[in-house]
Amino acid sequence: MSEERKQFETEAIRTQLERSDFLEHSTPLYLTSSFVFEDAEDMRASFSEEKERNIYSRFTNPNTSEFVEKICNMEGAEAGYAFATGMAAVFSTFAALLDSGDHIVSSRSVFGSTHTLFTKYLPKWNITTSYFKVEEVDRIESLITPKTKILYAESPTNPAVDVLDLELLGNIAKKHNLILIIDNCFATPYLQQPIKFGAHLVIHSATKLIDGQGRVLGGVTVGQADLLREIYLFSRNTGPALSPFNAWVLSKSLETLAVRVDKHCENALKVAEFLEGHPNVNWVKYPFLKSHPQYQVAKKQMKLGGNIVAFEVKGGIEAGRKFLNAIKLCSLSANLGDTRSIVTHPASTTHSKLTEADRLEVSITDGLVRISVGLEHVDDIIQDLKQALEQ
Ligand SMILES: *Cc1c(COP(=O)(O)O)cnc(C)c1O
Repeated sequence: MSEERKQFETEAIRTQLERSDFLEHSTPLYLTSSFVFEDAEDMRASFSEEKERNIYSRFTNPNTSEFVEKICNMEGAEAGYAFATGMAAVFSTFAALLDSGDHIVSSRSVFGSTHTLFTKYLPKWNITTSYFKVEEVDRIESLITPKTKILYAESPTNPAVDVLDLELLGNIAKKHNLILIIDNCFATPYLQQPIKFGAHLVIHSATKLIDGQGRVLGGVTVGQADLLREIYLFSRNTGPALSPFNAWVLSKSLETLAVRVDKHCENALKVAEFLEGHPNVNWVKYPFLKSHPQYQVAKKQMKLGGNIVAFEVKGGIEAGRKFLNAIKLCSLSANLGDTRSIVTHPASTTHSKLTEADRLEVSITDGLVRISVGLEHVDDIIQDLKQALEQ
């Protein structure tokens, strides 16, 4: 590896394992469960960690190591570990760092399964969570107790695309000696690096924009070395490791992350501007629209606005459902961050089991539509949304 750090795009392409004797140009796939030892002494030294080397692919594998090294470079992190899914990364990170009796302070607007982890599973181990709404960051300090260990947030949030001030969260974490963990999935390391603002750990679902082509699941946690050591030991023993094949796909995907995300963001801004001017739309939320309530914060911490646009169709839940039924080009799908544009209506689908009041807690109004803007020609995406709005 080169001593001198290069630009983001160069690191994404040129960070690579050492070539094998075949002198391959592109990194090969290492489909092997385990690695061999020279002799008894080699085996002893490897297991005692005197030597840094691959032993078994649940611990490390060349392909997962390459993927992790790239994400560490991109996020400015000391260490990392790659997981089978984003949720495996979230769960393992909490499970490795928390003890019975510990307390979490979290943004209320977090990914659905993360919220279920906080409300249903962590309480089994006597770990509790208090929540703040995204517009009530001034309440965070009042939620902190002597048992609080972790401050947790996503920005931008799913599905309402709210933005939290990472610098402010970093300052609170520092003042109260908390571990700040940011799920950076919507921004990707290309648009936002939370460690610069004081985050100790950054989590990604690599399933989204990092793969970017709707093929594989993956997750990763990167950050401070001592914390990652605990996460690594937990994971090497409990087995949530990313498969070498998925790591190989994801590492290749990172080579094109910057160009893909640039184009996603360019398309998303045009879609947001179109929607803002449409008479059948109540409001639009996109971090780089001047009308976004946290526009200044978004500008401070993000390079571009991301690929997710939230808006409200006039006419409530029925209008939202009708809009979805009229969509022709975009997909109705549970994923996001794909090359294909994806439209969802949370009130009638993912969040339909919640009451209207509970939905409003997480900024989901009945007419809210979320678009993951893809890489089709933007004129075709806009045309599809236009005809559906005008049905
Ligand atoms: C999708 C997602 C996750 C979970 O990732 P999986 O790879 O689906 O397990 C976590 N956080 C956010 C913000 C997500 O969008």
